[in-house]
Amino acid sequence: MTTDRVNLHGLTPATLHAHLTAAGAPATLAHARSLLAWHLAFDPRQRPKRTSVPRAVQEVFERCVSLARVEVVERAEDPSDGFVKYLLRSPDGALSEAVRIPLEAPGRYSICLSSQVGCAMGCVFCATGRLGLGRNLAAWEIVSAFCQVRDELPDGARITGAVFMGQGEPFHNYDAVLGAAAILSDPCGGRIAARAISISTVGLVPEIRRFTAEGHRYRLVVSLTSAISERRRRLLPVTRKWDVPELAAAIRAHAQATGERVTVAWVVLAGENTGDDEIAALRELFEGVPIKLNIIDLNDGPSDLPLPAGEPSPLRLRRVDQAELDRFRDRLRTLGVPVVRRYSGGRARHAACGMLAARAHPT
Ligand code: SF4
Repeated sequence: MTTDRVNLHGLTPATLHAHLTAAGAPATLAHARSLLAWHLAFDPRQRPKRTSVPRAVQEVFERCVSLARVEVVERAEDPSDGFVKYLLRSPDGALSEAVRIPLEAPGRYSICLSSQVGCAMGCVFCATGRLGLGRNLAAWEIVSAFCQVRDELPDGARITGAVFMGQGEPFHNYDAVLGAAAILSDPCGGRIAARAISISTVGLVPEIRRFTAEGHRYRLVVSLTSAISERRRRLLPVTRKWDVPELAAAIRAHAQATGERVTVAWVVLAGENTGDDEIAALRELFEGVPIKLNIIDLNDGPSDLPLPAGEPSPLRLRRVDQAELDRFRDRLRTLGVPVVRRYSGGRARHAACGMLAARAHPT
């Protein structure tokens, strides 16, 4: 019965080994590694002809483990930048997205993955935020989305990086996202270096602190977008729960624990969060803290968005023009931290939520 089968895309070598032995297979950890690598690590064109796993183990594997994947229902390439947006359907009909992102090096790609169907965070600049939360994605759904995109790469190409910046707040689905990251970074799984996997959050402070305490090697990205509490509460309602000083303290603690720069992302909203008041607030919050600032264009065009309940007037969100962006970037550089403009791709297809930003863009 398929309902009792565990999905391969959600397993590490250790958990597959545990499932096989619990089902009575005379399996070793090496058998589990071999089976996992054969099915996950390579696209079907590159797989060896057969595995060396004994027949008795293979039989249990076939009986107990499902190879089902999320299904690709639509793919759309943006001809302006080569980003490819995938619409994926889970067995229950839930839809999610992934985006294949070409990197500078030929034949190298990054993948932007979703963590949830919809999102509960309600960031006002984000189309997904207006949907509300459907449900969490399981680790196997996230990893099988990766496999579907990977298996359509041109010959010889590889996915060398992954960003959790698609639909959903990754730390709102902490266990599944960290489980998927473990499989994506396993040599028998996605074969992506842990340091090339970025997990982005809008500021769930307890989960940031948990992530820090657990000592993961994945990169942390915090979408700050305003360093001023009152403004950030209007733009990112999560601020009402964990305010800016609390979030900054968690960022400081992470930088201190890892000895590495924390990436602070900033969706630039014309006339809203590009003023000197933001520069002063950033200086005060992060004096002496190793951060890197990623500035990101608003993905959608101008829009009047409803504000969270209780806010007095609609918020008009617009992309910045070059002059405003240049001025803001120059002022950010006075903070003495690296400032990188990130390209928010697939704009023509609305290929991402407001946070998708995976490729450096010349300023
Ligand atoms: S920006 Fe990210 S966290 Fe915010 S509503 Fe959109 S998907 Fe959710």
